[in-house]
Amino acid sequence: MPQGHIARKRFGQNFLSDPNIIRQIITAIAPKKGEHIVEIGPGLGAITVPLQAGCGHLHVVEIDRDLIARLKETWSPAQITIHEGDALKFDFSTLPAPLRVVGNLPYNISTPLLFHFASYAERVRDMTFMLQKEVVDRMVAEPDTEAYGRLSVMLQYRFNMASLFDVPPTAFKPAPKVTSAIVYMQPKPASECACRDEALLGRIVTAAFGQRRKTLRNTLRELCSDEDFVALGINPQARGETLGVAEYVRMADHLSARAE
Ligand code: SAM
Repeated sequence: MPQGHIARKRFGQNFLSDPNIIRQIITAIAPKKGEHIVEIGPGLGAITVPLQAGCGHLHVVEIDRDLIARLKETWSPAQITIHEGDALKFDFSTLPAPLRVVGNLPYNISTPLLFHFASYAERVRDMTFMLQKEVVDRMVAEPDTEAYGRLSVMLQYRFNMASLFDVPPTAFKPAPKVTSAIVYMQPKPASECACRDEALLGRIVTAAFGQRRKTLRNTLRELCSDEDFVALGINPQARGETLGVAEYVRMADHLSARAE
């Protein structure tokens, strides 16, 4: 283990050690002087060092007290502002905007983290994350594929996303069991994600994918009547995975308007 730190499983610690992969990630992020960048989980600093060199000053959010102590020994406050604590509870509106969010995320909490970051989309310029490849595949999946689900719809509603490249387990110490991938996310303009009731959209999507094998008539029984399906021109015998993001938004808008 680099520099004597024992990796903590509960914090999803797999430290990046392959210089080529580190270079590729930094090339993808392309940090510039004066940009507001926050790194989630800097760990032992694999990408922190080149990020700070690129932008001059960096914010980091880290939960592990031992790693925080190391960061404090290594960096001056002029170089890095250290935010101690759980990124899941961190209020990103306290940081300057437009914000670039980056990180090799702890895989055990990647989905709740993505939803937490999504709630700050208006303040964010872009986000570049390393995640389990399987999660990235789900984020960018198209309808009618196995990987397409709630994560795809809710994130594609708000972001343009691209899977940039895969990272093998051998790039880390200790090596994780799974292949990883880098995903790039850019918030869509507000005019493109103007669902009338996003909470309702979330409920519809959660219900529609709750039981993937069932038809929309069954999964959305409590939300959408036969008349609603007719008005929307959506086949109630179809399954949730056949509808695109725009159709889910149309459904939420229709149900929200009808409730008024
Ligand atoms: N960035 C380093 C690298 O690439 O080598 C470390 C990446 S490691 C996969 C995940 C990092 O996130 C660790 O430093 C871990 O302590 C930190 N972490 C885990 N859970 C966290 C949380 N809830 N909030 C903030 N940081 C967290």
